Amino acid sequence: MQFELTDTQRHIQRAAADFSARIIAPQAHAIDEHEGIPPQILKGLADLGLMAVNVPEAYGGSEAGVVAYSLAMQEVSAACASTAVTMAVTNMVGEVIARFGTTAQRERYCPHLASGEYRAGAFALSESEAGSDPGSMRTMATRNDRGWVLNGSKQWITSGAFAGVMVVWARTADAQARPGTRGISCFLVEGGTPGLRIGRAEDKMGIRGSNTAALSFEDCEVPEDALLGELHGGFKIAMMALDGGRIGIGSQALGIARAALSESVTYAKDRRAFGGPIANFQAIQWKLADMKTELDAANLLVLRAAWLKEQNKLFSREASMAKLFASEAAWRICNEAVQIHGGYGYIREFAAERHLRDVRVTQIYEGTSEIQRLVIARSLLAG
Ligand SMILES: Cc1cc2nc3c(=O)[nH]c(=O)nc-3n(C[C@H](O)[C@H](O)[C@H](O)COP(=O)(O)OP(=O)(O)OC[C@H]3O[C@@H](n4cnc5c(N)ncnc54)[C@H](O)[C@@H]3O)c2cc1C
Repeated sequence: MQFELTDTQRHIQRAAADFSARIIAPQAHAIDEHEGIPPQILKGLADLGLMAVNVPEAYGGSEAGVVAYSLAMQEVSAACASTAVTMAVTNMVGEVIARFGTTAQRERYCPHLASGEYRAGAFALSESEAGSDPGSMRTMATRNDRGWVLNGSKQWITSGAFAGVMVVWARTADAQARPGTRGISCFLVEGGTPGLRIGRAEDKMGIRGSNTAALSFEDCEVPEDALLGELHGGFKIAMMALDGGRIGIGSQALGIARAALSESVTYAKDRRAFGGPIANFQAIQWKLADMKTELDAANLLVLRAAWLKEQNKLFSREASMAKLFASEAAWRICNEAVQIHGGYGYIREFAAERHLRDVRVTQIYEGTSEIQRLVIARSLLAG
């Protein structure tokens, strides 16, 4: 078993850590307060090759592998979870297009995502009545003589307000003729397409700097070649993309928790009570020990899933286990970080409060914890 990083992985990790510490971290509080990520930050990530880590070099990507992607996500997440989710979804969109797109689709979209010409990509699967159960989606795509016409709406779409390209799922067959997941297809819709309307940004508990928008499609026409993958084959694309996406969100949870732990160690050594630093109390030491142990256990699960995906081995169950454990452990770690910070943990001056708000969503998006348990149990019971 090899635990050492390769030169490429170390290089990507260092580049992400350096940019995060110098450029992103000093702005993280403002990103949260003012609810927006400066476009230069997203462009800077693209310039480092971090917006298309697993897209082939031929289409502008870095082709650095899934482990490198996880390491980069951890670094950016430790600085700013809002920036990290924007990066995660953009990477996911680039990968989906690189994997399932035609050569023309890859050439048209991947270089723009990789170079930062598009500020972000968006992944539009969920609807107000169809989150955990996307098979019940209602958005429809019907043919006309020029291509496809989309009608319906999507909910909670990360970067929906400014994405250059969106992967959008819609029914392409009557629900009776092809029920559930069998009549769903996938389309590439460019930002600004007539008929695509952007709703107001959601007012969220955490990751407040990321954009989360509702989208509505009102006779939104896209050309014939906007279809991604096979007709009626969209659900499979969504599930495969989400498997990989879960490694990204597990990595996001890890990065946030790592920051919370590191700030807790510093604070415990500085803060004095009863005549000495609170780090002298065994109650605090045990919290720190449990936080570090859970963090490392989560890291191993996430990196195992990343490694399996990189080796083209089956990784769906492992990605669910990694995301489930990392997101729940990270929540516990961030909660303890607030406790260690005492009253200061509850006010905005210290980042512990932001970490706790930011980390909560990792148990919800890219499949809730309940859905991860469903995936894991199903795979076990199927033998
Ligand atoms: C900030 C944010 C960003 C997001 N970004 C995106 C995005 O970019 N693209 C996108 O497509 N979506 C996005 N989402 C949507 C997200 O993926 C969904 O919210 C999530 O999948 C849960 O769906 P839901 O909210 O409809 O909850 P529901 O499906 O209504 O679930 C409600 C509760 O019931 C539980 N539940 C549901 N089904 C089962 C079951 N079979 N067994 C046990 N329990 C079950 C759930 O676990 C949950 O606890 C985002 C959400 C948020 C909050």
